[in-house]
Amino acid sequence: MDLTNLEKALKGEPDFRLKQIKRAIFKDLVNDWDKIMVLPLTLRQKLNQELSLEIKAEVFTSNDNKTIKALIDLKDGLKTETVLMRYSDRNTACLSSMVGCPLACEFCATGKMGFKRNLTIGEIIEQVLFFNRFLKNENQKVNSIVFMGMGEPFLNYDNVLGAIRILNDEDYFNIGARHISISTVGIIEGIEKLAKESLQVNLAISLHAPNEELRSKIMPINKKYPLIEVLRTVEDYMKATHRKIMFEYVMIKDVNDSLENANELAILLSGLKSSIFMVNLISYNPTGIFKASSSERIKNFKAVLEKSNIEVVQRYKFGVSIKAACGQLASGNQ
Ligand code: SAH
Repeated sequence: MDLTNLEKALKGEPDFRLKQIKRAIFKDLVNDWDKIMVLPLTLRQKLNQELSLEIKAEVFTSNDNKTIKALIDLKDGLKTETVLMRYSDRNTACLSSMVGCPLACEFCATGKMGFKRNLTIGEIIEQVLFFNRFLKNENQKVNSIVFMGMGEPFLNYDNVLGAIRILNDEDYFNIGARHISISTVGIIEGIEKLAKESLQVNLAISLHAPNEELRSKIMPINKKYPLIEVLRTVEDYMKATHRKIMFEYVMIKDVNDSLENANELAILLSGLKSSIFMVNLISYNPTGIFKASSSERIKNFKAVLEKSNIEVVQRYKFGVSIKAACGQLASGNQ
């Protein structure tokens, strides 16, 4: 579904048609032009030919039914992966911003498949539309969004922000900006740009190491955007927006999970000029290379941070059984 095409296809039609169509597609979740009875037959026929409303996807459901992964077919034969996480009080969609990813982080399956291309605005919002259709029978919808699927959102900045505006728009998805989070490895220009947008979205930074040497080893992008510069930019972001930052830290056995690493991280973060942040310790999900830290190790690591008065949360593990968890998205394109 491409919205730019929708406006093009409606050229010459009265303005209210777009309104009717938006309502049918995004509120009533109609997936077939012939079912939009308020439109004249000739227009339905024309739209049928020019713009398909179908979203083809293969769907996988986890053993506990809490995670649904959709492998959506794109026009050029590539596939994008998107994940729905069903919490007791909300449905969160984890969106991809690219097919593949150019960053090649050592521990991430998407990084290992390489970069194919950026997703368009239409292809990003289609992921949410797909899950809204999926949830329609239960009278539910997607109410929060994380850009934590495939790709680096800030290397596809304009399309990601364009998609967020549509997700935000009450005529489309009506998802509040405070319920939308962007995760980045720390693309400095992206963080600086976001600070200037008048949008209340949340920002998460994939940190994963407490020093330059280790971070460069597991995240090659650190050579271009060193940890210290990323943190300096984050400090400016916090100062400008007063919004809380989340630092993500994936716990990898014998790589970044020692007490020494924890101490170094505590010192690094305690030195930040602002304290409106929290650390999210993420269990490493198997991608074939490393091993996950034991829960004992995670507990000890957490205790060191907490002793320095740093707020720490642990992310609930979703969807490992269907390779839908963080860092595992890649299967459809390999
Ligand atoms: N490129 C962005 C968006 C992807 S978000 C970013 O890196 O922030 C995906 C999150 O899952 C990131 O924090 C990423 O580092 C983390 N991740 C990647 N591989 C993982 C794995 N195998 N286990 C757990 N988390 C992983």
